[in-house]
Amino acid sequence: MKYKDFKGLKLSRLGMGNMRLPETDGKIDYDKAEAIIDLAMSGGINYYDTAYVYHHGTSESFLGKVLKKYPRDSYYLATKFNVLASKDIEKVFNEQLERLATDHIDFYLLHSVTETTAKEYMNEDYINFLKKEKAKGRIRHIGFSSHAKLPTLKKMLEYSDIFEFVQIQLNYLDWTLQDAKGQYEMIKEYGLPVWVMEPVRGGRLAKLDDRYEKILKDHLPEASISSWAFRYLFGLDDVGVILSGMSNLEQLRDNLKTFDEVKTLDEKENELLMEVKKTILEELTVPCTACHYCTDGCPMQIDIPKWMDLYNRVSLNKNRELYLKSKQEPNGPDTCINCGQCKSQCPQNIDIPAVLKKYNEMKL
Ligand code: SF4
Ligand code: SF4
Repeated sequence: MKYKDFKGLKLSRLGMGNMRLPETDGKIDYDKAEAIIDLAMSGGINYYDTAYVYHHGTSESFLGKVLKKYPRDSYYLATKFNVLASKDIEKVFNEQLERLATDHIDFYLLHSVTETTAKEYMNEDYINFLKKEKAKGRIRHIGFSSHAKLPTLKKMLEYSDIFEFVQIQLNYLDWTLQDAKGQYEMIKEYGLPVWVMEPVRGGRLAKLDDRYEKILKDHLPEASISSWAFRYLFGLDDVGVILSGMSNLEQLRDNLKTFDEVKTLDEKENELLMEVKKTILEELTVPCTACHYCTDGCPMQIDIPKWMDLYNRVSLNKNRELYLKSKQEPNGPDTCINCGQCKSQCPQNIDIPAVLKKYNEMKL
């Protein structure tokens, strides 16, 4: 594992994201998830990222329980306050300390700054609370995660100087697709390091269409498809921790291998990856990252990310069989009542009801 210095701390370049832990019957599968954390610890990962809302609130307590067997100074804990889940930061923070079985949080973030939440986060009460807890040592470093567009990101960066890092969605597709380039450069201008989330876009860049995989595999047969995405990020000097929400040991092992070397792409490799990216972007239809922010409030209980994924797979591959099979499933796109509640929650600004309608009416 390679490490990067942050204010005197040695942070592992790969951070363990805890939003996609393995589940059984809708709950974190403790044994499987524990095996992941154990391998992460032995592989040198010392940065563990969670949030108040991950796994319906159980990700934090899982981490608190599983990390207890390790010395507290052998890992850094990162968690987040989400204003959409509760406005009472003090109550949430105390609950988080309890869930995580700790007396301090190493990295505390305001969670998912967007055009909707930014105004709420720009609140002196929150800033004062964070300052007070930092002075007490219960918070060691303060940052925010953002899905905001440039003007909102700028306002947030201007609002307070307490932020020490910013976490953004960054990968070779979003560099262009979501203007991660603009965000990265703006954060850099403010002298802050960038933490990366969604480096493989919720798994989408870990498994490409066969046509694209062939191009990469022909050049480097042994390298995993994910490793290309990580190596792209290694070329960005201001990137600190790269978070990956790993769901099984195989992904973790592969990522540990990539982060043992931290080898940037050479000229030819970069050229090939950009060729693949260009074609994907031309064909990509819906940039869903399967974050699930949209699902909780859907009155029709539509599993939206599942349908976004189906939309991409069906439309990219013109898969009639998959399409017809999916149409027989309950709570499908045809049950959407176009209430728009999901749309306001989507950090990717996807017009979800419109996509569902398009899917419903697809002719193959
Ligand atoms: S617009 Fe459709 S998918 Fe979105 S919350 Fe309403 S019913 Fe659910
Ligand atoms: S549609 Fe948007 S909010 Fe819903 S899972 Fe996809 S990216 Fe997340």
